Amino acid sequence: MSGMSGMSGVSGASGASGTRGVQADPTPRSFPPGTWLGLLGGGQLGRMFTMAAQSMGYKVCVLDPAPDSPAGASADRQIVAPYDDPSALAELAALCGAVTTEFENVPATSLEYLAQRCVVSPRADSVAVAQDRMREKAFARSCGLPVAPYAEIRSADDLRAADPALFPAILKAARLGYDGKGQARVTGVDEAVAAFEAMGAVPCVLERMLPLMMEVSVIVARTFDDQAVAFPVAENQHRNGILALSALPARVSQDLALRATQATLTMARALDYVGVLCVEFFVLEDNSLVVNEMAPRPHNSGHSTIDACLTSQFEQQARVMAGLPLGSTQQHTAAVMVNLLGDLWFRAPDPSRAVEPDWRRVLSHPQARLHLYGKAEPRPGRKMGHVTVRGETVEDAMRIAGAIERDLGIAF
Ligand code: ATP
Ligand code: MG
Repeated sequence: MSGMSGMSGVSGASGASGTRGVQADPTPRSFPPGTWLGLLGGGQLGRMFTMAAQSMGYKVCVLDPAPDSPAGASADRQIVAPYDDPSALAELAALCGAVTTEFENVPATSLEYLAQRCVVSPRADSVAVAQDRMREKAFARSCGLPVAPYAEIRSADDLRAADPALFPAILKAARLGYDGKGQARVTGVDEAVAAFEAMGAVPCVLERMLPLMMEVSVIVARTFDDQAVAFPVAENQHRNGILALSALPARVSQDLALRATQATLTMARALDYVGVLCVEFFVLEDNSLVVNEMAPRPHNSGHSTIDACLTSQFEQQARVMAGLPLGSTQQHTAAVMVNLLGDLWFRAPDPSRAVEPDWRRVLSHPQARLHLYGKAEPRPGRKMGHVTVRGETVEDAMRIAGAIERDLGIAF
């Protein structure tokens, strides 16, 4: 395949983008519709990205080891292989003008390999920071942003030596956690040691439990040439460590919204981040903000941008990759997103058998939009879809969301 380095507006319908040597070309370039965009990961975030990219005329190729992935089912092509399979990565790089990821646990070496052959966003070094809670916290602090008091834990002795003021605490595996997995709430050292051993003694952070007044998140998109836009702040409610509901915009003061937005943009710029980035914050009783974690990709709390903003977070991801101008993040409707977990499928009278919920109960509320991810197997705690409720105000949308949750029998 011939190289096209140095060209702007490269590639035709095949989307080919040849080897450009060891260094990725930092010059912004744009890819016309018809170009293939590659995606590492085939989950729901990838599925919504795929739909947004395709609606702009791009072709999407997903790399995921599972043959029936939600994004693979929507994409123009799926390569079924592990994320570090050299021939699969070579195939993806040869086909695609640009590649992104929909999850942070993609091997950094895969992103580095791809970056030598095509445009990659976000870059491997940005993803590496978000992959590791120790690096992530150190990075937030280096930006002058507070994080929850914590200790780095590599052995049971580190736990015994930890500041007792950290308890009650959450022990979080430094890597590979999501949706509250790889976490244990612990009241003291003995419990912490037991939890650490139960997690396989992997490196962890021991984080003090903070009294949270609220949780918020901010999603930003940033291009290769430092154009950056922020979406409105989202207000997030978790149940059992999993995001349950997210309101856009958050019911916070302008001052707090501004601080959260600026902190997120500061982090994006400090990382020289390219792509869509989400930062989750805790809001404490004195209205101060604490960085919880970041996600180097679109985020569950941004799903309502599809239905409530001029440009969705997924379209921004496609625009960044294609080298296009970013769209407006302006919100045109207040919205509340409700996650639909697999638990909904296991209900009385026979909770041992999966039964499709009656979606008429959702859609009988005309302000609701139903998004299902096409996952064949519902499991408790598994994100199967979401509903976005649009309202005159957030309170209005919240009221309708509450009615939908009651109609579906979601316990809270
Ligand atoms: P996700 O991938 O869904 O964002 P996660 O597994 O990465 O979740 P965290 O974001 O670290 O986990 O924690 C999940 C939730 O647990 C938080 O949103 C918050 O509600 C609660 N939580 C985490 N850390 C703390 C803390 N230090 N103090 C109080 N609550 C916390
Ligand atoms: Mg989180």
